[in-house]
Amino acid sequence: MSATKYIFVTGGVTSSLGKGIISASLATLLQSRGYSVTIQKFDPYINIDPGTLNPYEHGECYVTNDGAETDLDLGHYERFLNRPTSQDNNVTTGRIYQSVIDKERRGDYLGKTVQVIPHITDEIKRRMKLLGQSGEFEVVITELGGTVGDIEALPYVEAVRQFKWEMPDDCMVVHLTLVPFLAAAGELKTKPTQHSVKMLQESGVQPDVLVCRSEHPIGEDIKRKLALFCNVKKEAVVESLDAETIYAVPMLMRNEKLDEIVLKRLKLPHEGKADLTRWKDFLYKLRFPSSEVKIGLIGKYVELKDAYKSIAEAFIHAGAANECKVNVEWIHSENLNVEDIAKDLSHLDGILVAPGFGERGFEGKLHAVCYARENKIPFLGICLGMQCAVIEFARNVLNKPEANSSEINPKTPDPVIHLMESQKDIIDMGGTMRLGAYDCKLTEGSLAHSIYRRPMISERHRHRFEYNNAYLEDYKAAGMIPTGFNPETNLVEIVEIPEHPWFVGVQFHPEYKSTVANPHPLFVSFVGAAVEYAKLKI
Ligand code: GLN
Repeated sequence: MSATKYIFVTGGVTSSLGKGIISASLATLLQSRGYSVTIQKFDPYINIDPGTLNPYEHGECYVTNDGAETDLDLGHYERFLNRPTSQDNNVTTGRIYQSVIDKERRGDYLGKTVQVIPHITDEIKRRMKLLGQSGEFEVVITELGGTVGDIEALPYVEAVRQFKWEMPDDCMVVHLTLVPFLAAAGELKTKPTQHSVKMLQESGVQPDVLVCRSEHPIGEDIKRKLALFCNVKKEAVVESLDAETIYAVPMLMRNEKLDEIVLKRLKLPHEGKADLTRWKDFLYKLRFPSSEVKIGLIGKYVELKDAYKSIAEAFIHAGAANECKVNVEWIHSENLNVEDIAKDLSHLDGILVAPGFGERGFEGKLHAVCYARENKIPFLGICLGMQCAVIEFARNVLNKPEANSSEINPKTPDPVIHLMESQKDIIDMGGTMRLGAYDCKLTEGSLAHSIYRRPMISERHRHRFEYNNAYLEDYKAAGMIPTGFNPETNLVEIVEIPEHPWFVGVQFHPEYKSTVANPHPLFVSFVGAAVEYAKLKI
């Protein structure tokens, strides 16, 4: 194999067209033809990473094995490709500027005036090539965040122009755009696409492929028109209709021959077809489930489903594995109170208390844990959800009514969850939590051990507070058993209640590791327990 090939994915007309899904789908098609592919995302905002962003601003913050706090599109990349991403897969304008400014302070620019062109664009290009230079990948797909025409996207588009100029045979641009349907005119409209392509061309970038999002089939005439006006080959105008699930998009793109078009353009072998047998198998199970369960997701950002993206996707993977449709009911923890709890939760077959930060909606989460524990409803607590399980047990079983996390009440007499020692002197908020993958040793004979079927696992973390080992013996004696420990620090990572049919709290985030090819065992088992619970109710 010669040089790495680079595919840039840009977006036009509007945001939220699904560049991440198109990038992941194209990568899936190339991967299933045997190419080694990775996807990276360049985000034009000035934050160093999305770790400090409110979920209302940016949805979920996705965490990689090496502890990067990243854009949620990286979650899609991993779920589609079943391959971990890293620090290098997500770059922001903030990070680009930070490294240029660091170099300037070190004197690396030898007295030159530091400018957007060439210094910022050079740094962007350097980062664009980094994964390709690792030698691991034949194809690197780079998704450019934002929309063409945004002021902040300009340096990235300029970097792509230079990239294309420097290596015209090894890179290409796929432009994702919208072809809207005007009901009043009864027509699909090509003008917005023409304008967004013009905008790219003004910056010196000619797209090679147009992927046209549309609610209606765009037909040959429109393809021909778009090809002519946008200066692309007609066969490189690809239709992307709304799909019932994001996991159907690779099939849609294969039908449109997107993989073949791209490989031809990059002068890579393109004979045969992508083998999507396993993918189709997954889609079949998704479309034709044999049972159905209702699982409540208790959180405080439920009006914004992107805040729990990886959890929702993990349920889709686990549902398919169980041949069961998982209906996730999004329940706002702020609305839960003791009086109405049965009314709010009794119809559920499983309860998940979500990760989170801060006091808002916290007590409601405790009520949900209590209801699941007392009524033997399958329960999974993730990160803050696990901490809630520990606090609820202390209050209602260990008779410590004021037990709390020192995050919520720093003056609690019973800080059953407290600040990690390593966090005590930290002042900066960005990138300073316990982040990324850590080993966890499972206790033999535990539910966790039977689910994972191995003694040592590795899972990803994002938290500052931890289980307080001073209370460990009290918990054990009363029936909440720690069954997963960090082998180095002895930090409790998993708690279970063996008396309960399925009650598990995990300090880590299993959802980040669930993929189409490898549904996460904890989610698979949890959904399985919900299926069993639903049967009992009949
Ligand atoms: N707020 C909790 C902590 O920092 C839990 C974090 C989370 O749920 N990701 O420990």
